[in-house]
Amino acid sequence: MSDPVESLARRLLEKNNLQPPTNLEVLVQGQSDLCYKPIPFDGIDGCIYNLKHPTKKTKIIINSRISKNRQRFTLAHEIGHLYIPWHYGNIIDQIAALDDSIEMMEKYQHYLNIEREANRFASELLMPTPWVKTVLSYEEDLSKVHDEITNTAQVSREAAAFKITACAEKPIIFAELDNSFNIIQISNSHLLGLRTPDLGTPAHTVIDTYKTARCYFNKTTRRHYMWWSLGSTETITPPSDEDWRSLLKTILKDSQLPPEDTKHIQHSLNGVFGSKKGELSRNNTLNYDRLYTDSQTRLINDKKYQRITEHPLFNQLVANKCQDML
Ligand SMILES: [Zn+2]
Repeated sequence: MSDPVESLARRLLEKNNLQPPTNLEVLVQGQSDLCYKPIPFDGIDGCIYNLKHPTKKTKIIINSRISKNRQRFTLAHEIGHLYIPWHYGNIIDQIAALDDSIEMMEKYQHYLNIEREANRFASELLMPTPWVKTVLSYEEDLSKVHDEITNTAQVSREAAAFKITACAEKPIIFAELDNSFNIIQISNSHLLGLRTPDLGTPAHTVIDTYKTARCYFNKTTRRHYMWWSLGSTETITPPSDEDWRSLLKTILKDSQLPPEDTKHIQHSLNGVFGSKKGELSRNNTLNYDRLYTDSQTRLINDKKYQRITEHPLFNQLVANKCQDML
């Protein structure tokens, strides 16, 4: 289901025939007064007054003390407030000062919701999803995708990375690293079951977790950024309602193995799952994700099962079998 706020941003782009780098001023003209001036309070990026006011004109102020890219994102965010029909009143944007603590959540639930909506709107306005997906489709090197989106859309590297991971249709991981190559921020393409290492761990733990990960790296004057593109076998498929036995039957039939091999494979497959379950139980680490990953990796790395593991239903078989064993 598409996000109404993102759809609104895309409709505005279409209507005004805008492409990245989005000309934001066009969207403000005639709608609101806009000025850039230093805001002497910490953490305030901008504010908007008299939203949807019946008589007074809306006014947007952007803090001129923040970086150019951040000013641009803040203006796109204020344009979100301007065009999203249910945002009204006066809003002061303390984007950096918000956190997700329970106290904050309860106190400012409504405020947090409209802020998140304005952020999603801003992100879509500056980096429309269809455009990001096009760049992802012709450029394999994710660090180059990152450069292109950042430079063309004129946004911060963080905002670009967030959008790229949200738009990716393949499993990818993004991390920002400190000078010792430890992870200080990490996000992934939100595909179900994708596991990412904890903050503070060295970047190479991604490679240890995902053996087929292809790594892309870019370094700016201040920061290190690392991207990994994962093989399609690296995600954890959730179980479905289908009986794993009927999945196995289909796979074996399609793989056209000689009857004696079929029987043998069927037997040894069960053995692999059984022994993985035993190992994990002994180590007290038995859960769905581990049983899935360990059994799947074991089977993929054994040539004997190649015809099975290459079948499109293989991951589903592993998923449903694991579920059945727990
Ligand atoms: Zn806001």
